[in-house]
Amino acid sequence: MMHHRSIGDADVYNIVELIGPTHDPARLYPDLPRGEFEKLIPSLIPAHYAVSTDRLIIGIQIWVIKIGTEVIIIDTGVGNAKPRELPRFDQLNTLVPEWLAAIGAGSEQVTQVINTHLHGDHVGWNTVADGNDWVATFPNASYWFPQIDYDWWLPIFKEKNGIGETEAFTDAVMPLVNQGRVQFYQAGQVFTPGLSAASASGHTPGQMRIDLLRNGQKGVFCADIFHSPLQILRPDINTVVDVEGDIARATRFAFLEEMADTGALVMPCHFGTPHCVRIIRKGDGFDFVPG
Ligand SMILES: [Zn+2]
Repeated sequence: MMHHRSIGDADVYNIVELIGPTHDPARLYPDLPRGEFEKLIPSLIPAHYAVSTDRLIIGIQIWVIKIGTEVIIIDTGVGNAKPRELPRFDQLNTLVPEWLAAIGAGSEQVTQVINTHLHGDHVGWNTVADGNDWVATFPNASYWFPQIDYDWWLPIFKEKNGIGETEAFTDAVMPLVNQGRVQFYQAGQVFTPGLSAASASGHTPGQMRIDLLRNGQKGVFCADIFHSPLQILRPDINTVVDVEGDIARATRFAFLEEMADTGALVMPCHFGTPHCVRIIRKGDGFDFVPG
């Protein structure tokens, strides 16, 4: 599944690798009492919550930007043929390569791959199998990893030997590091004119957002500052997978303040259709308009 938008002279596409009513609200948002969740349901149906199964609809996006001769991917989903503990991520066999090729982002065409953070659902297509090795899916691309996130996760990967939350390090992160394919970036990194990194820490310690500003139009790839629009309505609510809760909450409030009523297109990784939003102020808080 592919969608296209323009931001100034940049073409922005998203590939939906997976989507469905997968997440029990009580499990993803354990701090949100059921009664308070139920007040939000009218704002979440039908794109972000399935009433019949009581599950939040969560997608996995692979964002692609084309500017001039640059073909840039932001976050690379789960990937095919990777052994994963989570059954719905294990040994996938999707058509992502064909979908990427269809928008001119085939393996040879991509010039840069940027990971916002190093969770397994954001790095998977960094690599593909080549015999017993894992090699760059995009052989002509520069790969960019956020330095702070890498430094945070590396000791955990070593301690746990690639089991659990750093399992993707084994096949999607370390092979590229060991092959000398990776450049590490910090906030302020400019990838091409009008495309730069800013800190979005909290969900993971080194998570970055990627800001796109072209011809006076703005879009922000905000990674996992939010997992669902629920957190635009209730920015105080963290997910169970936010590593640094207080920082994640502060980042979310500051981001909403910055984006509200600016018209900027906000492009997270996990929203249901149409996968991006614009933020507006409502009373003392915030609301969203499908983007
Ligand atoms: Zn994620």
